[in-house]
Amino acid sequence: MLRVLNNEFDPKQDETIFSVICNVPSLGLSCFGCCGHHFKDKATMQKFFDENKELLAKYLEEGKSYEDFMNRERLLDPCGGCYSLMREEDEAGREQYYCGVHPFRIGREIRVGYCDHDYLCKTAAHVQKMTAAEKHLFYQFLKEQKFDSFQYSMINANETVLLGMYREWKEKSIKDGKIPLNT
Ligand code: SF4
Ligand code: SF4
Repeated sequence: MLRVLNNEFDPKQDETIFSVICNVPSLGLSCFGCCGHHFKDKATMQKFFDENKELLAKYLEEGKSYEDFMNRERLLDPCGGCYSLMREEDEAGREQYYCGVHPFRIGREIRVGYCDHDYLCKTAAHVQKMTAAEKHLFYQFLKEQKFDSFQYSMINANETVLLGMYREWKEKSIKDGKIPLNT
């Protein structure tokens, strides 16, 4: 299964030069789309994420390890998500989703053999290979959509839907003269 919430966004670069789209902090977007399947509604998922977060805190308080926490379950919850998924708010109060055992959070990689932590969905893999100019355009597209992270995750859970939306947006933007024909 699945992969990680991967933040390779480089704040030193222009905001448009992201290498992956899993997290786009400047737009308040974080995605959990490939950390499960057939997700339930937002309220159900939020409750699930909060329970996972509380349980992780309890594990650590009791002296248990991140490995103990992650390995307590290998299957997905009936709500569709991985038992290590959690949520928090960013500085602007926007809901963000994350893997509670991600190396950015715990300082080491423990997920090898647990999940496909290097996985990139087709859209993310495609965007990663775009030129800087095309990434800039893709960023403009994302900005205009005003997704919240839950919507963003649900769209990305369907592999290429976002890419299709982007292509339509680009075609229309060219037709409307908003972006040059040869973009
Ligand atoms: S362990 Fe983390 S990266 Fe792997 S599926 Fe679960 S939430 Fe996603
Ligand atoms: S579904 Fe795609 S965009 Fe979302 S976290 Fe996975 S690879 Fe990244």
